[in-house]
Amino acid sequence: MADKFDVVVIGAGPAGYVAAIRCAQLGMRTACVDRWLGAGNQPSLGGTCLNVGCIPSKALLEASELFIEAARGAAYGIRTQGVALDLPGMMRHKDKVVGELTGGVAQLFRAHGIAWVAGKGKLLPNHRVEATEHNGSVRTLEGSNVILASGSQPVELGVAPLAGDRVVDSTGALSFDSVPARLGIIGAGVIGLELGSVWQRLGSKVVLLEAQERFLAIADGQVAREAYKQFSAQGLDIRLGARVLGSKVTEKGVTVEYEDKSGAQRLECDRLVVAVGRRPNTEGLYDAETELLLDEFGFVHVDERCRTNLPGVYAVGDVVRGPMLAHKGMEEGVMVAETIAGHHAEVNYDIIPSVIYTSPEIAWAGKTEEALKAAGVDYRAGNFPFAANGRAKALGQTGGFIKILSDARTDRVLGVHMIGPQCAELIALGVMAMEFGASSEDIALTMFAHPSLSESFHEAALSVLGRPLHVAKAARTPRAAAGGADG
Ligand code: FAD
Ligand code: NAD
Repeated sequence: MADKFDVVVIGAGPAGYVAAIRCAQLGMRTACVDRWLGAGNQPSLGGTCLNVGCIPSKALLEASELFIEAARGAAYGIRTQGVALDLPGMMRHKDKVVGELTGGVAQLFRAHGIAWVAGKGKLLPNHRVEATEHNGSVRTLEGSNVILASGSQPVELGVAPLAGDRVVDSTGALSFDSVPARLGIIGAGVIGLELGSVWQRLGSKVVLLEAQERFLAIADGQVAREAYKQFSAQGLDIRLGARVLGSKVTEKGVTVEYEDKSGAQRLECDRLVVAVGRRPNTEGLYDAETELLLDEFGFVHVDERCRTNLPGVYAVGDVVRGPMLAHKGMEEGVMVAETIAGHHAEVNYDIIPSVIYTSPEIAWAGKTEEALKAAGVDYRAGNFPFAANGRAKALGQTGGFIKILSDARTDRVLGVHMIGPQCAELIALGVMAMEFGASSEDIALTMFAHPSLSESFHEAALSVLGRPLHVAKAARTPRAAAGGADG
């Protein structure tokens, strides 16, 4: 006898658990099958994001940043003595944050009457899901609808296979038991930069080997150049155009052989992190008889409403096309729940915020300047440097800028790009502006609190219009404006 539900969700990461909550809120009988085992080998909700992704990495980023700031007290007129790292304590902080948040999802499931099945789910024909629980017992769940939200896992490299605690993926790099004196990282993408920053702040000498010649090719070029300059000044050794040929674990550490345009190179490090992207979890997710369609890259094929080729079967989050970001998956989860309930819902894929939680933070939404040029769009750009912002000066974090790109004809904002303090929060201003179809003049006519970092957003809009107040002239580049001052 099958357990009957209106919706069965496979996967309880941000895409799946949010889909399940919204389905339950809309009055649907909902089950969620998830296989994750966390601390103590206990089932844990929240998927990659809460267990080994967004949350633990941000806990370490915040803690390691505080460590640096504490040691920098003298710059603020604070004498500090005996600032020392307690790595096990920092890891306990991280684990506590993870435990509270994963436990919070379990509470939300209880509050919404969602049936949580801890085990592996497999899609069978006719909306049935076979759930193999951790104790080996097998149940069949029958859903009028099924949502696949099985997420992703790190890509492995044949030339640098994982090896104990010497060669690790991002999960291993969140739990080192000591600070490696020399840390190598393959891939200078989001994970490489975030986790590289954590260990560099805690004392590692970090070398990043990046295959591409252009640093942070996904970001606006001007932001990427500023980031490269600032990260290099902090001591991150970013080697571009590096083709890794092989790696060898030795008694003392790891040797990585690679080549770049100068020829063959060798990197000796104590530990190596492989951070070269993630791939969708589709193995064992469905029975071949279902005839579920994957796309050419191995993601579950979906349309713009996250409908698969099977009626009543949807897929959301990292297992489908688009950026692998928790908030993108959550919005898809909500869209699918609403669609199943018969409501109209959509996701605006053109305005997905991206954030890199380094120091300075990097954030953007909408089109880059390079993309606008390539598309032949006539645009205007305005920049404002944090060096001319009073709050940034008070914070002692004056590197970076905010840049707004708007349509030259209509003045509608097409892209917002920033690097500097608290940009993860500030980017929401750009997202809201673009969602509401704002022009740079709309932003210019809006009042912002003084002194605040958000004034730089206001000034960037004024700069698009050629009339910034706190720099001598409309700046095309942040460097040109560095002499400005904000009273
Ligand atoms: P996942 O979170 O991967 O969850 C999928 C769940 O499904 C897992 O629990 C998995 O065990 C389960 N599952 C898989 N197959 C089955 C099956 N057959 N049966 C049952 N259960 C199954 N994104 C951000 O937006 N911001 C960040 O700051 C950020 N930081 C990150 C830092 C790191 C180190 C990493 C690795 C990732 C980070 N990400 C971040 C990416 C983010 O974690 C993912 O985009 C997000 O978790 C995807 O959500 P999801 O629900 O699609 O999949
Ligand atoms: P990524 O795509 O951001 O970066 C991978 C990097 O590795 C790229 O720069 C790529 O050119 C490089 N690379 C690939 N193969 C290589 C090789 N053989 N040698 C050297 N370099 C190589 O992927 P990631 O950093 O692994 O992160 C995975 C996903 O997780 C990303 O899609 C990201 O969106 C998500 N994530 C997001 C956040 C955030 O939102 N703050 C944080 C962490 C992870």
